[in-house]
Order: sequence, then structure tokens, then C-alpha cells
Amino acid sequence: MPDDRIKIPSLEIKDVGTIREVKRSIVKISGFSFCINGQLIKIGPGLPGIVIGFTETEVLALALGDDSRLKIGDSVYGEEDIFRIPVGDNFIGRIVDAFARPIDGKGSIQGNISYPVFRDAPGVVDRTSINEQLLTGIKMIDTIIPLGKGQRELIIGDRVTGKTTLAVDTILNQKNKDVICIFCWIGGNVSAFFKLVQELRRKGAMDYSIVVSAPGSDSPAEQYLAPYTACTLGEYFMERGRDVLVVFDNLTRHAWIYRQISLLLERPPGREAYPGDIFYLHSQLMERAARLSDEKGGGSMSFLPIAETQEGDVTGLIPSNLISMTDGQIYLDTGLFHEGFRPAINLRLSVSRIGSKVQCEAIKEVSAWLKGEYAEYKELAGLMRVRTKLSPEVDMRLRRGKALSDLFVQDKGRPLTLEEEIITFYAFNKGMPDILEDKKRERFKKEIYRYLLKKYPSLIENLSAQKMLTAEIKNGLDEAFKEFFKT
Ligand code: ATP
Ligand code: MG
Repeated sequence: MPDDRIKIPSLEIKDVGTIREVKRSIVKISGFSFCINGQLIKIGPGLPGIVIGFTETEVLALALGDDSRLKIGDSVYGEEDIFRIPVGDNFIGRIVDAFARPIDGKGSIQGNISYPVFRDAPGVVDRTSINEQLLTGIKMIDTIIPLGKGQRELIIGDRVTGKTTLAVDTILNQKNKDVICIFCWIGGNVSAFFKLVQELRRKGAMDYSIVVSAPGSDSPAEQYLAPYTACTLGEYFMERGRDVLVVFDNLTRHAWIYRQISLLLERPPGREAYPGDIFYLHSQLMERAARLSDEKGGGSMSFLPIAETQEGDVTGLIPSNLISMTDGQIYLDTGLFHEGFRPAINLRLSVSRIGSKVQCEAIKEVSAWLKGEYAEYKELAGLMRVRTKLSPEVDMRLRRGKALSDLFVQDKGRPLTLEEEIITFYAFNKGMPDILEDKKRERFKKEIYRYLLKKYPSLIENLSAQKMLTAEIKNGLDEAFKEFFKT
């Protein structure tokens, strides 16, 4: 029997809204009944977009692509998916934009799977405490402000104080250490970016790194997205048991872009003209750093966000927000930088809340008194500027302090091995008179490690394996130092 019932095609119910306003790839939409942060939408003639916020009556979205054809009154359709990017092993060694699309001219990148960019941070039960040191190769940090894998440490300072250099050196130091590094460039200029990539290439760091680029010439949408993209690319590796380090250079510019977007959308400005949810913007990102439990594979993701200050003012909204949502900060000081004390770390204002529990025995032993001694020296040196006649004891303390300060000075692009750091400060703690003499100290700094590697390789091997200053290693080092200064 023929079926003469009328066939009704299956209906798909879609949320439809209307464009109210378009400005520099930012779209205000009204009429949506339901949507979530990060949701994909189709705008007007089919341009993809992402929902990034709401007001009581409107949805705020970023248009991904050329927005010149969009008109007020065009329809907007809600999709059933959220914004995703491909992630996977093939991203290593590549430079991508904020949408994880390659921009290094080396062809397309095949992702393993796709991840939503606005993901939730791992929950408390999936985490474990931070217990392994992330070595930066910077003497002052590894000894006094030790970082752990899974930690978030803010690098903060005025313009041109060596912030980027510090982060790059930390990446260079991860060579052969099985840490995947992601450098996220937000809002900076293109020429500085190329220099940075060249440096990473030249030093072989691209073998284990990914660069995400959203310079100031990119659209606000891309600059806004970039840090989330970098973080998502890192999560893929963390969830597979790997250690990841992500640098955000820098979040002050990221906040500026968000402010610009918000002002374009005429959202009510708050303190320093930032929108009210600026704290949420960054804390949501910072939460995604983690050290995962063994059940979750034991991977980690550490963050080195960079923030810019103006005339050393850390009480500005963005710096103070970031300080409160990280596990410590490394404060770079313009004054020290110009004195030639580089990296220009101001130890009084720098801290790592993870502390010495991540350090191995040997580095813990040699570092224990450094911070106190250095602080005392800085104070004494300040006081003694006006005095000429010094007691022998004060004179000795000043000389030791100066030697310590000199030992902390370190050229860029030259991260040290853990063993070299241990040896350097072991020698200092011994109070060897040779270390106090400027000329001999310089030679010591430059040559001792190479000398030991050549003449006493088993000593270094021992130290490297045991990570402890046993009596035998100490004796060996004492002998070696004597020998070194004799030659
Ligand atoms: P910006 O505010 O422009 O981002 P920044 O704070 O990131 O600046 P860098 O670009 O890292 O600063 O460094 C500024 C200059 O100082 C560079 O020319 C760099 O080579 C030099 N510099 C930084 N650290 C050291 C160092 N440890 N030894 C020698 N030179 C250094
Ligand atoms: Mg910089």
C-alpha cells in the first residue's frame, strides 16, 4: 500500500541572533537564548566566530577572519561545538599563529586530536604537590628562588630590563632535559620576534619548542586568543606525562588588548579603564598550570608569565593581580640592569613560594645561606658608602659580599648546568681567599667547570649521579680547586 502521508523533514532547532554592532572583528549580538563561553558561532555570510563574553542582553564574540562583509542586522547562528584547535606531537619545532595554523612556511601540521581552547583547569584530585625542580640555568634563581615543575612564576619589571632574555635562557637550559617549551609572543613587535626565533633556532632550542605568535600587528582577536592556544598546545603533552614550560611574553599587553576589546564594546570600564572581569581573564589561564598526579600520568605544566611595570610600580592593577595569582615573582630592576648587574634580579622583591623543597641535597646545601649573606651585604654596602675606615671584620664581609654579587652576574645565552652551579657556590661557601680576588674570581668563573670536566670528569659524574656533596666529593673538589689556582 502506498504511503500517502506527508513526509516532514527532520527539524533542526538552532539558536539565531542578530548582529548589533561590529568593530575591529568584535561583534555584539542580540537575540541568543543560550550560549556558553568559547562556543562557536557562524556570523552573517558564514564567518566563524567565538563567544567571549556576555552582558545581560547581548553576547560578545570575536569574528575569526575578515569582518568587512558583516553588516548590522545580519543573522548569527549558534553552533553545537566550542572553539577547538588541533594539538599533537607534530607541533614541536613549529611556529603557529593564535589559531594554531603554521606561519613558518613549512607546510601544514597534522594534529593528533583537537582540544577546546577554553578548557577547565585540572581539578584538585588530579593534582599532586610540586616536588621536582625546574632548572633555569640562572644561578640566582636555581639557588635562591628555586622553581618547581608545575609552578607559575611571574617575571616582572620595567621595559628593557631583560625579561624576555631571562625566559629565553630558561628555555635554552631545557635542552636534553625532556621539557617541551612553548613561547607565546603577545602584542610585541615583529622584528624583536624574529630575533627571538633566530636565537632559539641557532641554539637548537626549536627541537623541543613550539612558538605561538600574535604580535601587535595581528587582530585583537588573535592577540586575545594566543595565550589560551599556547596553554592548550601544552596540555596535550602534560596529559601524556610530559613536562611542559610555557612562557607568556607578555600578559600586560594581553590585558591591554582585552581592555581595547572591552572599550570597543562599550562595556563599563573599571579601575585603570579595565573591564571588571580582567582578574578572571588571567586567573582562569593561570589555573591551568599543574603538576598532575601519578594516576593522571604525572605530567606537569609550568608557566613563566611576563608582566611589564611602569617605573617599577608593582601596585598597578595588572601586576598586582598577576602577583596574587602566581606562586612567586622574579623582579627585574632597572637600576641593577644599568649598573651591569645582569640578570638584574632584585632579590629583596623576588620570591618563589615553592621554596627549597624542590632542590636536590647538594644545591640546597650550598644555597642555604646565600640569600641572607647577600641581603646583609647590600645593606652594609649602602651604609658603608659614607665611611672610610673599616674594621677588618666589616671589610671581610664587604669583600665576601662583593664576590657573591659578582658570582651571580651571568651573561645572557649562557645557562649553567646544575653541577656548575653547585661547584661555584660550594667554592664560595668554603671562603677560599682566591675567590675574593677579582682577577682570580673572574678566571674561576670562566674556566673552573671546563677544567674539572677535563681533569676530574669522574668527580662531576659522581656529583651528577648522587646530587649530594658527600665527603668524598668535597675532598675531591677541595683538591681540584687547589690545583686550579696553582696553575
Ligand atoms: P622589553 O621591555 O622591550 O620587552 P625586556 O625586558 O624583555 O625588554 P630584553 O629584550 O630581554 O628586555 O633585554 C634587553 C637588552 O638587554 C637586550 O639587548 C639583551 O641582550 C640585554 N640583556 C638582557 N639580559 C642580559 C644579560 N644577562 N647579559 C647581557 N645582556 C643582557
Ligand atoms: Mg621583552
